[in-house]
Amino acid sequence: MQVLEREAEPRTAESRAGGLHIRTLEILDQRGLLDRFLAKGRPRPGAHYAALPLNFADAPTRHPYLLVIMQSEVENLLAEHAAETGTVIRLGTELQGLEQDPTGVTVELADGSRLRAQYLVGCDGGRSTVRRLTGIAFPGTPATMTAMLGDVHLTDPPDHDIFQERREHGNFSVLPFGPDWHRVITNEFDHVADRDEPVTLEALSATLRKIVGTDFGMHSPRRLSRHGDAARQADRYRDGRVLLAGDAAHLHFPAGGQGLSTGVQDVVNLGWKLAAVVNGRAPEALLDTYHAERHPVAARVLQNTRAQTALWRVDEHTSALRETMADLIGMDAVRRSGGRDHRDRHQIPHGRGRRPPRQAHARPRPRRRPRLRTAPPGPRRTPGSHRPASARRRRHRLARPGRPHPRPIHRAQRPRRRRRAHPPRRARRLARQHRSGAGPGHAPNRSYDMARPV
Ligand SMILES: Cc1cc2nc3c(=O)[nH]c(=O)nc-3n(C[C@H](O)[C@H](O)[C@H](O)COP(=O)(O)OP(=O)(O)OC[C@H]3O[C@@H](n4cnc5c(N)ncnc54)[C@H](O)[C@@H]3O)c2cc1C
Repeated sequence: MQVLEREAEPRTAESRAGGLHIRTLEILDQRGLLDRFLAKGRPRPGAHYAALPLNFADAPTRHPYLLVIMQSEVENLLAEHAAETGTVIRLGTELQGLEQDPTGVTVELADGSRLRAQYLVGCDGGRSTVRRLTGIAFPGTPATMTAMLGDVHLTDPPDHDIFQERREHGNFSVLPFGPDWHRVITNEFDHVADRDEPVTLEALSATLRKIVGTDFGMHSPRRLSRHGDAARQADRYRDGRVLLAGDAAHLHFPAGGQGLSTGVQDVVNLGWKLAAVVNGRAPEALLDTYHAERHPVAARVLQNTRAQTALWRVDEHTSALRETMADLIGMDAVRRSGGRDHRDRHQIPHGRGRRPPRQAHARPRPRRRPRLRTAPPGPRRTPGSHRPASARRRRHRLARPGRPHPRPIHRAQRPRRRRRAHPPRRARRLARQHRSGAGPGHAPNRSYDMARPV
């Protein structure tokens, strides 16, 4: 396997993800990698949903916390693991063209050379070249606001942490992120930046002064970035031998920090399937389950980031809505309803009466033969009448060959079954929904990423 990376150096300078959520921690744990991440990160018992505090300390998992860790650290640790498994990472190698045929994909590189592979996975970010060359559509909603982020030094920092403080023109955060630097974030709702506008310290400073009235004496930026709340998703994750994962497949506002975690979960879902197909252990159709399982998950992530940016607006109606949301999130039953979905292995939304789509790789279940209950010839029993266990045993003895053919018992005549000690799963689920007030039609699958991402 080869990884092609356009950048000549590992990325350390860009200010992006600052945390990993529960499901991603569980996946890293399954792979035996979590300890390295824990050594570089800092667990926090909760996250937020549109800046409303969300605590998941009692989530049903071994890792009920957000792991605060910089994306550059995550990338370094994953690169270290890739090297251990013999994966070649080719830095400074840009893909510019691709062609696929029934046996593989030919990739054209910026230096004019070509590579041949059985499959190609485009993990090349929101402006994915692979997605464009494959002609996969990327529909969604455009940006309605502008966020800026800077890791900067402050000569006059505030005397306390500020997180998403709301003012007339937007909200802002000032958080200590290192011994001598702060992360400053602004969300402006009355300005949509042009993609070509330069991202400068002056621009961040001007925005902060517009929202707060001061820039806290910011200088010497380590990193600066800008993003909007455009939310888009590839309409299919697979085109023949080309697949998409991560931001190439889904792009959204980093509300709750869900992008990196969703991408990691994508590739964990895809990785073993590709290995099984390439090694001839599974049919190609297995790869279609990747879209079936992961597309709905990112669709929900997009939905909850749209909801979060809507809740960030600073008008009075939104303030009222935020209070209602804060009350709801404070309720244990509401908060825990996210945990139910979090345990859903593939996180596929399914409502009442709908099962998650069957996976192509699962072995077909043998058809059950209808159970025919038999009764000895004799007078009909009245419905509901009690039949002792000894009589039931005798009924089976009577059904042996050589004896007169037993007569099927009508359902209403069957002896009443003893109530099982544990109610069946469906009944337990309905009872749980009833207790939580969610109602049986409630579509679960609210992943923890929502207030986190994972
Ligand atoms: C401000 C901000 C904060 C965020 N916070 C969080 C958070 O707290 N938690 C979280 O989970 N997520 C967060 N995210 C989202 C997260 O950063 C992204 O989801 C994640 O980086 C996506 O990873 P990716 O590998 O899919 O794409 P990218 O990180 O965009 O990587 C794509 C890579 O492909 C390379 N590439 C592109 N084109 C080519 C080509 N033609 N040939 C070769 N290589 C190419 C690029 O150089 C790049 O290295 C945040 C994002 C932002 C902007």
